[in-house]
Amino acid sequence: MSRLAGKVALVTGASSGIGNAIAATFGREGASVVVADVRRDPKLDTERSVFDKLDEVGADYTFVEMDVTDPEQIQSAIDTTVSEFGGLDILVNNAGIYYQYTVDETPLDEWDEIMDVNLRGLFLCCKLALPHLRESDNGKIINLSSILGLVGAGNSGAYCASKGAVSNLTRQMALDYAAEEINVNALAPGIIETAQNAEWRENDPELLADWQASTPWPRFGQPEDIADAALFLASDESNFVTGHILSVDGGWTAR
Ligand code: NAD
Repeated sequence: MSRLAGKVALVTGASSGIGNAIAATFGREGASVVVADVRRDPKLDTERSVFDKLDEVGADYTFVEMDVTDPEQIQSAIDTTVSEFGGLDILVNNAGIYYQYTVDETPLDEWDEIMDVNLRGLFLCCKLALPHLRESDNGKIINLSSILGLVGAGNSGAYCASKGAVSNLTRQMALDYAAEEINVNALAPGIIETAQNAEWRENDPELLADWQASTPWPRFGQPEDIADAALFLASDESNFVTGHILSVDGGWTAR
């Protein structure tokens, strides 16, 4: 299948976890892929390199070292995308971080860091990519929100605030860019087994049991579950879908 043949996709945070799976899936479906991350290697030893996966399917790809908090690095990554692949059709704003604190316990620098990466970084990537998405026949923006961008959860003040803002910014941008036929949607993953939660999965059986009890489906998600949904939002099959936050959460938010 080549559901993304001829498309060019830039995926932030694509070396690990969900971004890694999205980049590999897009490459398998015929897209040229820009892997944009602060690091090349996956965060977990158990994860397979995205470059090995892209090689395996014969995809065109490039790596750009890019921190989403730095506008100059983002501009340079977009310039590389356009010069290497001739344009940009799909932007996936996936880079994100998570800390666990109640509001009164949140260190100010960690609040700022979460907002910088999860929200300001996503805004900057959209702002700088939009001139090129406008040139595409089917420009697509896919933002990584979270179930914690739809509902509150204990101990996650800054993260909930950042992802709530991502959800509503997604709806807002969908309105501004609909006339230009640029789709803006978000994914709201539930618990997905990645580096973001590896430490708790390993060391906090109580929290793990709590997460499983909140997930009606009898397992946690895998990065590929999110990549399959991202593929739908990146493909022509979703051309009339915009401003939507798609939960991929094993039923977490169905309660
Ligand atoms: P992960 O930690 O496995 O991977 C995140 C990747 O982003 C890493 O490769 C990291 O190097 C990169 N990154 C971090 N900061 C960056 C920056 N400033 N600039 C560029 N790259 C940066 O995380 P994941 O679980 O794959 O999460 C991906 C996205 O999905 C995040 O936005 C996260 O909040 C969201 N999400 C994850 C889950 C989950 O359960 N794993 C649930 C809901 C939402």
